[in-house]
Amino acid sequence: MTFMLNSIEARDIAYQLHPLVDLRNYDKTGALVIERGEGIYVFDNAGRRYIEGLAGLWSVAVGFGERRLSDAAKRQMDQLSYYHIFAHKTHGPSVDLAEKLIGMAPVPMSKVHFTSSGSEANDLVVKLAWYRSNALGKPEKKKIIGRLKGYHGVTIAAGSITGLPRNHESFDLPLDRMRHVSCPDYVGSALPGESEAAFSRRMADELEALILAEGPDTVAAFFGEPVMASGGVYVPPENYWAEIQAVLRRYDVLLVADEVICGFGRTGAMFGCETFGIEPDVMVLSKQISSSYMPLSAILMNANFYEPIADESARLGVLGHGYTASGHPVATAVGLENIQIIEERDLVGNCRRLSPLFLERLAGLAEHRLAKTWRGVGLIGALELKPWTAPGAKPGAAGAAIQAAALEQGVIARAIGDSLCFCPPLIITAEQIGAMFDAVGRALDTIAA
Ligand code: PLP
Repeated sequence: MTFMLNSIEARDIAYQLHPLVDLRNYDKTGALVIERGEGIYVFDNAGRRYIEGLAGLWSVAVGFGERRLSDAAKRQMDQLSYYHIFAHKTHGPSVDLAEKLIGMAPVPMSKVHFTSSGSEANDLVVKLAWYRSNALGKPEKKKIIGRLKGYHGVTIAAGSITGLPRNHESFDLPLDRMRHVSCPDYVGSALPGESEAAFSRRMADELEALILAEGPDTVAAFFGEPVMASGGVYVPPENYWAEIQAVLRRYDVLLVADEVICGFGRTGAMFGCETFGIEPDVMVLSKQISSSYMPLSAILMNANFYEPIADESARLGVLGHGYTASGHPVATAVGLENIQIIEERDLVGNCRRLSPLFLERLAGLAEHRLAKTWRGVGLIGALELKPWTAPGAKPGAAGAAIQAAALEQGVIARAIGDSLCFCPPLIITAEQIGAMFDAVGRALDTIAA
């Protein structure tokens, strides 16, 4: 494609390095320029409207263009645009949001620490878990277990827990302290005749065997998303989390629930931990915490996690950690306002009420002759297509084709392999869910033709 000299598309190619693209190919294709957003819609620079079927990056819960959030940001910027929380300083917005989160947590939590992204938060949880093990006099207890297809970000430790080859290859990841167990993809990997409960038991047995092989005294923590999202939306089968937690408790391994996508209503409860009966030591929150209007993430930790860390800082005289933007006043003020909107408008209830329709429409699309299966819970789901077997077809070709065809029909959704993933803003209505899936149905028909 050629772009006008000095157009935004041409300048983008000239100056910006983009994530998750083939950079050489990007020079030829460029990008779709999104100019503004309103509710569940975004508009490109030619004025075309799209349903944002992934809420940006699984994150814009309250929809685009919410004035209450821009007003909250302006108010805070006018009053105190920036201040830090280092070395005996603090400010109101970070305290207000920390108190709010401790009050909302589904299990007793002791402290909150703010960071700016999901990756940064997960990376820091690893560092704190190592610090904690040293504090407890267990310097060997440092290994971290994640899951294949799990996604926890891309910084060095978080990227190492992520279980996706594309986030490791040529980056020299994962770190050698990281291990991975299987993805709980019941539909895709159950043995013939295996029930969900038996599958979950097998997943837990695999985890237990790994912990025993490594040595329980060397394993610090297990990280898991309540619902695996960025790996392709895998909803845990019956009993999965109960079985996994029993193993972790048996060997004194911390459980870190990565709620970066599930948190704040995505699964039909405020937190994915509530939907699946998870009782974590640490919860990591981001994305819908501020509807991504500001970069913000939070680590919630229980006393079991926090107390040894506090003791160690007393022994050393200081906790030798801190980010310039931790607890940023504008980000935390926007986060608090965003959570108030989620509560006042009962967006968690909206998710719960509309989920049956959302899943029914997804299941309906899975009847299409190009489709293989579907997965989903709350307002997050995936439609998996049959892989293309034509000579020369690359893996993921079916997914790429449906993503492009859906875009043509005015829906932005994310292809992961051959699965097209949906995670619309929580403000979506029944009518809009209908319009979104009608458009995807037309997209499937276009490809089939
Ligand atoms: N954890 C989960 C579950 C995520 O889905 C993501 C991002 O998609 C991250 C962590 C990383 O967050 P960030 O992109 O803000 O670093």
